[in-house]
Amino acid sequence: MLPKGVKSMKTIEKIVSGKLIMPQRKRVAAYARVSVESVRMQHSLSAQVSYYSSFIQSRRDWIFAGVYADYAASGTKTDGRGEFKRMLADCEAGQIDMILTKSIQRFARNTVDLLKTVRRLRELGIAVVFEKENINSLSGDGEMMLTILASFAQEESRSISDNSKWGVRKRFQTGEIGVSNKHILGYRYDGERKQYVVIPEEAVVVRRIFRLYLDGKSLRAICEDLNSKGHRTVNGCLFQEASLSQLIKNEIYAGDLLRQKTFIVDPIIKNKVRNNGELPKYYHADAHEAILDRETYARVQAEITRRAALLNPVYPFTGKIRCALCGSPFTRKMKQDNGVPYVHWICRSKKEVGKTCRSRNYPETLLERICAGILRTDGFNAEVFSVRVKEMIALPDGSIEFHLTGNETRVWKDLHLDEFRHETTKTDAFQRRIRCGLCGETYHRVCRNDKWVSWYCMGKRLKGHSCSSRDYPDSHLRIVSACVMGTKDFDEALFSQQVEQIRVLGSYKFEFIFKDGRTKQWEKA
Ligand SMILES: [Zn+2]
Ligand SMILES: [Zn+2]
Repeated sequence: MLPKGVKSMKTIEKIVSGKLIMPQRKRVAAYARVSVESVRMQHSLSAQVSYYSSFIQSRRDWIFAGVYADYAASGTKTDGRGEFKRMLADCEAGQIDMILTKSIQRFARNTVDLLKTVRRLRELGIAVVFEKENINSLSGDGEMMLTILASFAQEESRSISDNSKWGVRKRFQTGEIGVSNKHILGYRYDGERKQYVVIPEEAVVVRRIFRLYLDGKSLRAICEDLNSKGHRTVNGCLFQEASLSQLIKNEIYAGDLLRQKTFIVDPIIKNKVRNNGELPKYYHADAHEAILDRETYARVQAEITRRAALLNPVYPFTGKIRCALCGSPFTRKMKQDNGVPYVHWICRSKKEVGKTCRSRNYPETLLERICAGILRTDGFNAEVFSVRVKEMIALPDGSIEFHLTGNETRVWKDLHLDEFRHETTKTDAFQRRIRCGLCGETYHRVCRNDKWVSWYCMGKRLKGHSCSSRDYPDSHLRIVSACVMGTKDFDEALFSQQVEQIRVLGSYKFEFIFKDGRTKQWEKA
C-alpha cells in the first residue's frame, strides 16, 4: 500500500571549512489520539504516551518536547482535540521542531484539516512524521503522499451505514468507474478485467509519436508524418495538432491513471466539502501495462514544459478572437518576411491538417492599433483590453466585432486604406476645418501616440450632446484629401490654400467645400 519513493528520514550534517558541525538538537513532540469508547483504548493511550516519551528521550540528537494526547468520542461532532490545539499553539510559539504521530488518521479528522495543519506547520518549518505511512511532511513528495493517503484514511473511518458511498469511492479507486474513454490510442478498456490493455499495433504508433517529439519534431510535423504514413486516430480521422498535444501528456502511457475526485464527504462531521483543488485526485501508479518507460514519459513532459516556456503562449489576444466563418479561435503565428520576423493572428483551423478557412489574417500591430482605436486608449493598453473586451469576432469581410463589458458592441470596419501610413501630423491642416454633418460641431484631434492621430466630433464630448458620428484616423483623412484634390500624396500647403471645410455626411462620406465655392463628395466604396 505504501507508495514508492517514501524515504526514511536522514540527519544531514553540514561541513563548513573542514569542521564538522553537529546539527542542532531537535525539539521533538508526539501526538496521540484514541477513542474513549473502551477502557482498553485508554490503556492504549497511556501505552502510546509512554512509548513516545521513552523513544524521543532515547535519541541523543533530540530534546523531548512532550506528548500531547486527546481522547476522542468518535462518530460525533464532539471536538475532543484540546491537546491538539495546545500543541499547535506551542508550535506557533516556536517550542517544537518536529512532531511524531502514529498515523494520518490519528492526526487529523479529515483531508482538509490535515492539509491545512501540515501546510501551516511547514510554513513554521515544523515536520510531522507519520510513522505508519512512513512520511515526513517536509520531504519533497510529502504533500502528495499525504493527499493520497489521507483519502484512504478517511475511507477507513467511514461507518458501515456509508456502505454505498464507500462502494462508489472504492470503485473510483480501483478504476471501475470514471473510465470515459473505452478506446485510447494504444489501449482498449477491458470491462471484465476492469483495466486498460495494450493494443500492440497501436502502441507502435504511440511510441513513434513520443520518439519524434523527443527528436525535436513539432506537433504539426508529427501529424504530417503520421497522416502521410496512413496512420489514423481511434476514430479513423487524420491526426491534428490539438489532439496530439493532449495525447503526449496522457499519463496512461506510463501505466498510470489519474482520477479526478469531484467530491468528498467528511465521515465525522458529516459535511460535504467542495473540492477546490486542494483535495486529492486519485493517482494510480502502475494501473496497467505501460507503453512507454517512465524515463521517456518524464523526458517528454519536461520537453513539453520547455517548449511551452519558449512559446510563452499567453498573449492579450489569446482566447479573445473567434472566427465567424468556422468558429475556431484565432492563434498567434510568427512569420518571416525577407528574414524580418513578424507576428500575425490567424484562424486556428488554418493550422489544422486538411482544413482551410477563408478568414483573413491580422498583423498583431494592426490588432493593437484597432483596439486602441476601439477602446480609445493611448496606444494599445493590454490591461484595459483584458478588462473591457470580452470577445472579438472576426467577420467574413475582415471587420471585427468587439463585444465589450456592459453589453456594448463596437465594430471595426476594414477600410483597405493603407494601414502603414500613420505618420505624425505636425501641422494643423485639418484643424477647425472638419465639421460634423450630424450635429454641426467641429472635429478635434487626438494624438494617442506618434503613430496614431485621429479626429473625433466634439459633439461626442459636450454635455447634452451624444453625436453618433465616427472617428477618423488622420492618415485616412490625408488619403481621402489627396484623392479628392487629385494629388498623389497629401499636399498640406495646397489643401490649406484651397479647402474651406470638410463636412462629414456619414460614415466615410465626406463633402469637400473649396474656397472658390466648388464642392466635391467622396464616399468609400
Ligand atoms: Zn476560421
Ligand atoms: Zn457630431
